[in-house]
Amino acid sequence: MLDAGRSLGARALLQLVSAGPMSRAELARRLGLSAATTTRTVRPLIEAGLVEEQPPQESAGPGRPVRRLAVVARSVTVVGVKLTDDTLYAVLTDPRGQVLASETRPLAHTDAVRVSALIASVVTRLAERSGRRPDAVGISLGAAVVGRRTVVVASFLGWRDAPLADMVHEATGLPCTVANDVRAFAYAEAWFGAGRGRDPFGLVTLGAGIGCGTVVGGEILSGARGAAGSVGHLPVDPSGPPCEIGHPGCARALASTSGILAAAAGHLGCRAQDLSLDMLLSPRARQDDGVDGVLRRAALAAATIVGTFIAYVDPELVVVSGEGVGVVEAYREDFDAQVAALRHWAAEPVPVLTRAFEFDEWARGAGALALEAWTRVAGDR
Ligand SMILES: [Zn+2]
Repeated sequence: MLDAGRSLGARALLQLVSAGPMSRAELARRLGLSAATTTRTVRPLIEAGLVEEQPPQESAGPGRPVRRLAVVARSVTVVGVKLTDDTLYAVLTDPRGQVLASETRPLAHTDAVRVSALIASVVTRLAERSGRRPDAVGISLGAAVVGRRTVVVASFLGWRDAPLADMVHEATGLPCTVANDVRAFAYAEAWFGAGRGRDPFGLVTLGAGIGCGTVVGGEILSGARGAAGSVGHLPVDPSGPPCEIGHPGCARALASTSGILAAAAGHLGCRAQDLSLDMLLSPRARQDDGVDGVLRRAALAAATIVGTFIAYVDPELVVVSGEGVGVVEAYREDFDAQVAALRHWAAEPVPVLTRAFEFDEWARGAGALALEAWTRVAGDR
């Protein structure tokens, strides 16, 4: 199942956001729709003020002047929130993903009621600072989410079956959407980032966990139970150390931040909590063969996940990000060789980009999802 349902309006909006103003005919071509269906799809977006017809331009050939469609920057404002175990990151953006204001707050209490209240106060603050009234809120976190409303399990916050969207709706009075953070980030990359116009598109993230987001036909793959892209515990190297639930050499054991730090601490004879990825990635630390081996193995594990993803999906582009992206960058040759080794002999190589890691990007992803949900509602009016 595609997460967004059959939202033609959102797909049309995505095209206009990512490629800029275009004629109805061009939009129809990009969406693979008839002129009549395209007109029907765009009409509610125009009526909702989200899309406008620009003044007519003389067309190059014979016929009527062409009127291009464009997204109205001031039409909608969304707030995107990313939750980690100790911090809340929030951005306020326009429909083109321009960040108008941002806020970061420590998460002093992690129960869902107090987090909802904190989100409401941040929404108010962002509205005051930007002078724009938000229309919708999107929240992303490292958790399985069903129906874009309920957090099934978020172990890092101790939540189970938390109806977060309803709680934040109650606290803010705004429509609210909740999503897995990797999927929200993939969505932002597809709307505003490197994934624009690349379809299918994949995002692999390395950090506290290992995740994968897939965008097909402009829509993010969620899966039947909200678990698509849960690649963290796939087996990579059975001779490797076990993860916290006992899989020998799964992706998470080898390439998650905690897996890397634990393995390096074992070699260095120190405590994992005294280490950081930045410390290990310094040229000096990498002179230690043990540390070098741990990092190289992590890069190869990441490459196995990326190469496997490419084999299943044949995407136009894969982006790798997350706090562990520096490991891939430091061992890029090994990484590329492993991705190439997993490629079908007749398949074309797929470009893999690394992208610096910023929590605001994750928050912007949540904003993109809120915008998508808002567009669907506008399209139904
Ligand atoms: Zn595992």
